[in-house]
Amino acid sequence: MYNEPIFLLPVLQERIWGGQKLKTLYGYDIPSDHIGEAWVISAHPNGPSVIKNGPLAGKTLKDAWEDHGEIFHKREDNDEAYPLLVKILDAADNLSVQVHPSDTFARKVESEPYGKTECWYVLSADPGAELVLGHHADTKEALAGMMDRGEWDKLLRHVPVKAGDFVYVPSGTLHAIGKGIVILETQQSSDITYRVYDYDRLGADGEKRKLHLDRAKQVTTVPHRNSKLSQKTERIGDAIIRTLVEEKYFSVYYWELDGKAVLSMDQDFLQISVIEGNAAITVSGKEFSIQKGTNFILPYGIETFQIDGKASFIVSHV
Ligand code: ZN
Repeated sequence: MYNEPIFLLPVLQERIWGGQKLKTLYGYDIPSDHIGEAWVISAHPNGPSVIKNGPLAGKTLKDAWEDHGEIFHKREDNDEAYPLLVKILDAADNLSVQVHPSDTFARKVESEPYGKTECWYVLSADPGAELVLGHHADTKEALAGMMDRGEWDKLLRHVPVKAGDFVYVPSGTLHAIGKGIVILETQQSSDITYRVYDYDRLGADGEKRKLHLDRAKQVTTVPHRNSKLSQKTERIGDAIIRTLVEEKYFSVYYWELDGKAVLSMDQDFLQISVIEGNAAITVSGKEFSIQKGTNFILPYGIETFQIDGKASFIVSHV
């Protein structure tokens, strides 16, 4: 049995809208001025995280999922891809307005295993920062018309956000992360994006990035529906555990620790990101120090573990 946390190295991804905050806030070693995304828990082929410790050190999370399924309590006959992906995004500029397909559409049209439902925990936001979430069109025809005519001010629904906010973004939701926002994103492990509007920006090559209006019109949910989330809170020891979402593809929690807590795990495995502070986690009598920017998986078979310190976490499971 694997009885220690599996610590992961982030995969840094350059983006035209990226900045420097993944270095200044999380200490990730950034090789460029425009790092937009850190894929902190990833088994996706476009950027799998590398394991730092234990018997699988040097292997990727993708290798571990494929060759050591017992770590995740994966059934022998399960040949699906690792289901989740956790990223931290630094939007130094507006991200393009986009939409992702459902599983059904992804499989049928893109031959990819998963569509993309995602959710965001806002880590920091400049005063006045806002997101695009949803639209104001009542019918598919109205949506298509406003897209074709470039009536973005009329079409897009803008939402102000601040640090600590949580946003659920089911597949089919038009969305964009606005300038000055840093988020931790938990999503289905998919990289299919239909770009709708890119502010007419030119890339490093002097070209506009490709748009995918036809696909976007097909997959966008009309009319927009706001998701209602029931957030509950419980206290275990010195930890406050807030459920942010419990939906079909994932459950996500915010843990706030100030002292000590002994927690039990009844899921197959947990994905944990430290977003603030310092702590220690003790598993099977072995203590590991963790701090802001640390990301790891607690593998199957760990029944209880202890956390000590003053720290905040985003935790998820399927
Ligand atoms: Zn997205």
